[in-house]
Order: sequence, then C-alpha cells, then structure tokens
Amino acid sequence: MITTVTLNAAIDKTYVLSDFQLGKVSRIGQIHAVAGGKGINAARVLHQLGIRTLATGFVGGSNGDFILKNLDQQQISHDFVKVDDESRICLNIMNASNGESTELLEKGPLITEQQLAEFRQKIVLLGQQSRIVIFSGSIPAGLSTSVYAELIEALRKTNAAVFLDTSGDGLIHGLKAAPFFMKPNEDEIAQLTGKRPENETELVQSLHQLADSGIECASVSLGASGSMTVYKGTIYRVRVPSIEALNPVGSGDAYVAGMAAGIYQELPIEDCLRLAAACGTANALSAHAGFVKREDVDAFLKQIEIVQL
Ligand code: ATP
Repeated sequence: MITTVTLNAAIDKTYVLSDFQLGKVSRIGQIHAVAGGKGINAARVLHQLGIRTLATGFVGGSNGDFILKNLDQQQISHDFVKVDDESRICLNIMNASNGESTELLEKGPLITEQQLAEFRQKIVLLGQQSRIVIFSGSIPAGLSTSVYAELIEALRKTNAAVFLDTSGDGLIHGLKAAPFFMKPNEDEIAQLTGKRPENETELVQSLHQLADSGIECASVSLGASGSMTVYKGTIYRVRVPSIEALNPVGSGDAYVAGMAAGIYQELPIEDCLRLAAACGTANALSAHAGFVKREDVDAFLKQIEIVQL
C-alpha cells in the first residue's frame, strides 16, 4: 500500500458567498467541509485512482473526530495518533461575485515529545507494510523543523520509498535525509538552492543540484506551465494542456499522488510523469483540493507532452 503522512491534518472548510465584504454581515450560501492537509489530499487522489492507501499523522479534539469520520465516509483507511488539542480548521471564503478567495488558516495542535515517539513507532510499522510513504505539508507546533528528516531516517530500516512535499526549514532538513522523491514548486526550489530559477536553463541547474545531493527523483512543478523532473540524472520537461482552471489549490498534492501511483505500479518513468501531470491538471478542474475524476485523468494522459532535455 501507499501510506500518506499529514502531521497537521485539517478540516478544509469553504464558504461560498454571493458578496463578501470585511466588516459587514454576510450570509453564507454553500458550505463545503472535508478532511484536508496535503497528505490527506494525496490519499484521496490515490483512493480515486484505485490504489490501496492509508492516511496517518496526528488528529485532535472534535475536529479530529470530524476528519476521521469524513475519511470513513470516503472509504479511505486511516491510522492516526490522537492528541487532545483541536486539529485546525482552514477556512476559504470564496466570493462568488468576483471569484476572490480569502483564506484563514488556524495553527493546529501542539504535539508533545511523547506523541511524536508514539507516531515514530507507528510510522515504522506502517513503513514495513508500505511500498511508498508520502510526507506532505506543514509541521505542527511543538515539533522541530528536522522532524521529517528524523522520520525519513527511522524509515531506512524498511523498504519503503519516501516522498517528501513540504516547504521552508522542514524541506531544507528533509533534503539531507535524501528521500526518493521531492516536489518543490518554484518558491521551494529557491529555498533549497538559494536562488529562484529565472529560466529553463537555471531550472535544469537547480534540478541537477538536487540530484547531486542524493535525490533520485525530483520534480519542480510550474502550475499551468507543467513541470520539470530529474530522474537518475536525466531531465524531463512536461507540458500540460491549457484548461479553464476552477481551483488549482491541491494540484501539487494530486501531482505527488499521481507520481506515487506510477512508481507503485512500476510504470516506466515517462508514464509516471504523465500520470502525475494528468492528476495535477485534473485537480485544477475541481472546486476543492485533492479531488480528481478518473475520466479527466484519462483524458489528460493523452494530452501531456514530455521531452527529454
Ligand atoms: P499546491 O501547493 O496548491 O498543491 P503546487 O504549487 O505544489 O500546488 P502546482 O505547480 O500549482 O503545484 O501544480 C502541480 C501540477 O498540476 C502542475 O505541474 C501541472 O501539471 C498541474 N497544474 C496545476 N495548475 C494547472 C493549470 N492551471 N492548468 C493545467 N495544469 C495545472
């Protein structure tokens, strides 16, 4: 199976309002609430692709109960460490009159050393049963920015290939633990290499830099411009079809899920990249993060262009 780790799971709540103004009373039209956080989004996409998946991490309080119930409703297997503090709510206020979106993100629970120790034991056990473990998203309060690096080290005694998709210091430390796959976007590659690539030549250089530090496969995602990947020293440029995107939030998570699904099924690398890109693009057609339709993925698979540089 594929295990996804969400250390700071959330309820992703969206309010759709016909007219939202700060300082005024607004009545909410539609409400949508779903279990979220980048690892859970990836788990949902994997499940939609028909891959055996398990979501883990930390959940807390009644918000945590909602997250688990919502995963049950979606038939996504889970095994989280439960904590007392409330899991966070991430609120997206969508103004239907102008398409503007305002996000309010809670911080989430404080995780103790003891809870981390419990999780470390759990992830090693799950790692023994998984072909791939995906670590995605932000690090909750109480945990060090080297937590991903530590957990990746703990998984070395298993055969699981590790995927890492995070940002900031967690990403910088995580790189040192040499995961199998990373997916920085343009901002994150700048955090890793100290320079924002200004053109494709510089992007290629950044990817070679990542490969030199021991990463077998790394993709830089470029939103509607597609992505570029280094795999075993070869660079691949992937272009995606032009679409009327509804909401590209979570396309990175869908991309990671597609890549993991490809590696899990032992597809040739170009087919893995095609599936990753098709999932990212399919997610951009959905109003909510981490949702793809199989028919959209299949249609986009035929339209992705890949060239070796
Ligand atoms: P997030 O953090 O919201 O998950 P991200 O910044 O990590 O996103 P993106 O680069 O936005 O990731 O998107 C990942 C992939 O999804 C892209 O490489 C591309 O394949 C696809 N994608 C994203 N946005 C679009 C779009 N507007 N049109 C077509 N494909 C898209």
